[in-house]
Amino acid sequence: MAKRKLSKQQQRRIASKQKSKIKDDLQQDDRLLNNTLQLDESNTQTARVISHHGRQLFAETENLEKIKCKIRQNLGDIACGDYVVVQQATNVQNGSQSESSAAKDSQYVVVAVKDRTNLLKKTGFNDSIKPVAANIGQLVIVTSLKPKPNSYLIDRYLTAAENLPSKAIIIINKIDLIEHENKHLVDDLTLLYQNIGYRVISTSIKQNIGLDEISEALSNTTSILVGLSGVGKSSIVKAILPKEEIKIAETSKITGEGRHTTTVSALYHLKDNGIIIDSPGVRDFTPINKSIDEITNGFIDVRKFNGMCKFANCSHKNEPECAMKQAVANGELDELRFNNYLRLVDEFNEKND
Ligand code: GDP
Ligand code: ZN
Repeated sequence: MAKRKLSKQQQRRIASKQKSKIKDDLQQDDRLLNNTLQLDESNTQTARVISHHGRQLFAETENLEKIKCKIRQNLGDIACGDYVVVQQATNVQNGSQSESSAAKDSQYVVVAVKDRTNLLKKTGFNDSIKPVAANIGQLVIVTSLKPKPNSYLIDRYLTAAENLPSKAIIIINKIDLIEHENKHLVDDLTLLYQNIGYRVISTSIKQNIGLDEISEALSNTTSILVGLSGVGKSSIVKAILPKEEIKIAETSKITGEGRHTTTVSALYHLKDNGIIIDSPGVRDFTPINKSIDEITNGFIDVRKFNGMCKFANCSHKNEPECAMKQAVANGELDELRFNNYLRLVDEFNEKND
């Protein structure tokens, strides 16, 4: 059946209705939380957020037990990947309780969010900023031969990684589609980014090429996969998830809390202590730089020359003795990267004029 398209105004009206409903629900939740649950401070533990919707979240304890938690008010943003402090609570609604009913009614409440190493945010509806994922060790930038790889997009993702900050690696997927005409694309991109210092992995999920290398690159850290739609991110995740986690991923797609599922992040375990945080919100996030300094910091090869031009306010275009242009001329800085850098700066200036 064809989906009916909603007008912008209809979308806004629905969003605003949903917002006020959510607010009412939250207030009711808080009243319930305060009146009926007694926290047991002696029973405190740290857990990592797996998925989060409204005032409820699923977290994973240090023993990898999955628990459902309510969230105490005023804790601020919480994202998938956050470490939270959880207390066990007992239901005291009727003032009295027997041992067995206390055990039956025991619940978990998130009472604090631990300091995070970083927080990935995205711009949502009406320019609202939404937290997407926290404590990310590595951005995995996925490109492919179809849709074609694009160094400008790769560089934008790299600026996001450098500013988070997190590590970044680049995957070139669908190398089974290599032909005489596009082989240079893979070779050129690989050389370019390897020379700057990034790891580049060529893969074909279709032909089982490069899977071990991806698994190894994703071990012992928390990664998110980003890239254009259709490059193969879901296929990659599915190919490297252990069987048990594939089951979880598929169940959460089918039953997982109704209409929220498509926007909820999820956290999956790989072998060798690798973790992937995955959700449409993560996958289709577009990096936005907040300042020229952020853009410059995002280019690890360009930033080496920052401050070395003759003029302090050099625009690196027509000024004499520009350290960046000299670096391009003598082969110390790649021209494509330098042009992508200037393009990002120009676009930033146009938007913020
Ligand atoms: P996503 O949108 O980035 O999550 O991409 P998907 O994982 O949904 O993949 C998009 C399409 O590319 C699907 O039809 C996949 O079967 C196909 N695909 C994924 N990996 C490969 C690959 O290595 N080679 C080829 N030829 N197709 C692939
Ligand atoms: Zn300059």
